[in-house]
Amino acid sequence: MNVRDVEPDRERLRRDLSALGIREGDHVVLRVSLRSLGIRRPAETLVGALLDVVGPSGSLYALAFTRQFPLPLRGRAVHVVFDRDTPAETGGLANYLLGLPGSVRSRHPTNSFVGVGDFARMTLEDHGPESPLFDPVRRLAEHHRGKMLLVGRLFESPGFSTVHVAQHLLGFGNRTVGRYGVRYRLPDGSVGLYVRNDAAGCSRGFHRFYPAYRAAGAITEGRVAAADCMLGVLSKTLSVDMEILRRDPTFFFCEDLGCESCRRNWDFYQEAAWRYWPARALRILRTARRRTLQGLPAFVRTRLPDTWTTR
Ligand SMILES: [Zn+2]
Repeated sequence: MNVRDVEPDRERLRRDLSALGIREGDHVVLRVSLRSLGIRRPAETLVGALLDVVGPSGSLYALAFTRQFPLPLRGRAVHVVFDRDTPAETGGLANYLLGLPGSVRSRHPTNSFVGVGDFARMTLEDHGPESPLFDPVRRLAEHHRGKMLLVGRLFESPGFSTVHVAQHLLGFGNRTVGRYGVRYRLPDGSVGLYVRNDAAGCSRGFHRFYPAYRAAGAITEGRVAAADCMLGVLSKTLSVDMEILRRDPTFFFCEDLGCESCRRNWDFYQEAAWRYWPARALRILRTARRRTLQGLPAFVRTRLPDTWTTR
């Protein structure tokens, strides 16, 4: 496929992104379901169109998060060492940006960000093992042109990462601090052990903030190619998050009573055992059933009654 084949898509994306509110000089954090765009070479085309719109004075970012393990490290985990080239677990766009010449990656061993553009170097240079997980988003929220673009899966993988910044700024303590970590490469080439010193947790309930963002004029909504999208101004989404979480620290919890991350890990909350454990057991059984079904050959799976294969 040559460049001419994707040029109409890139032109269309440029128009859609501008209509959504992205402007020259914007600094945009991206959370993207590439498949939802419904175009060929989605990562390359989207990033090309975004760079056309934000120009050389703007910058782009993605979450390039990587694995961590229970401490003390055991088995295979002992041999894992995070460095600049560790593939991200957070999707195709992050890995595409990591491979772009001139992209920069922050040094945080589990929650690194990747950025493109001159401004990205400044935004990411201080984000290391000692930093809060989402510090680059906090920095961008202090800039009036800091934005976040959600592309597709607005409810399956919802929300603006400013909620995590608000959790940190409000001092929400978490029981998983100190329990997880990973080895990582230091600038001098030696290897250190990162021990989790901050926690963000489950984000499946973050769509609950959407109505408040709308009311505050913090987001615009529209389509980019075939994908439903939201563009948030980070300073505004953060002030909505702070206001809501000050009133109700549990507001971001997902609906699942058996979610350990939401219901058991935060210092300020413990779900009653009689509500948590039955829901937890159900969740474990559902996961086991899904894994078993996935392991069956297709000709067996398609002959099972519907009630076995739907949750
Ligand atoms: Zn949850």
